Amino acid sequence: MCLFCDIIKGEIPSSKVYEDDFIYCFKDIDPQAPVHFLVVPKAHIGSIDELKPEHKELIGHIFLTIQKLAAEMGLENGYRVVANTKEDGGQSVDHLHFHVLGGRSLTWPPG
Ligand code: 5GP
Repeated sequence: MCLFCDIIKGEIPSSKVYEDDFIYCFKDIDPQAPVHFLVVPKAHIGSIDELKPEHKELIGHIFLTIQKLAAEMGLENGYRVVANTKEDGGQSVDHLHFHVLGGRSLTWPPG
């Protein structure tokens, strides 16, 4: 069982931002900024560590979509993309996802 696979299938409701054949984008349930959505591949990939050469096009598609969605959401002053990876990276859902955060000035470093 995978929470994000269930969200992609529509078995768990979510607030959809964008969807195509390859990715699903939805608002984070616990937003950390005025804009906070997640971009996930529809294929189940556990984390960055499970990426393979065949995923190169998918990853490019994800980042170009993030660029497009950020522009549509008025994030012209900037935004942050985060992929927490495995235990020490703070990953809590084991389905690759990219957080997109914006709408306020973000601090660095994260905790
Ligand atoms: P991670 O901690 O793995 O980097 O990020 C997982 C994110 O998924 C968290 O920011 C968390 O708030 C979000 N999340 C967890 N469960 C749900 C859910 O059921 N719906 C939505 N929309 N987001 C969720």
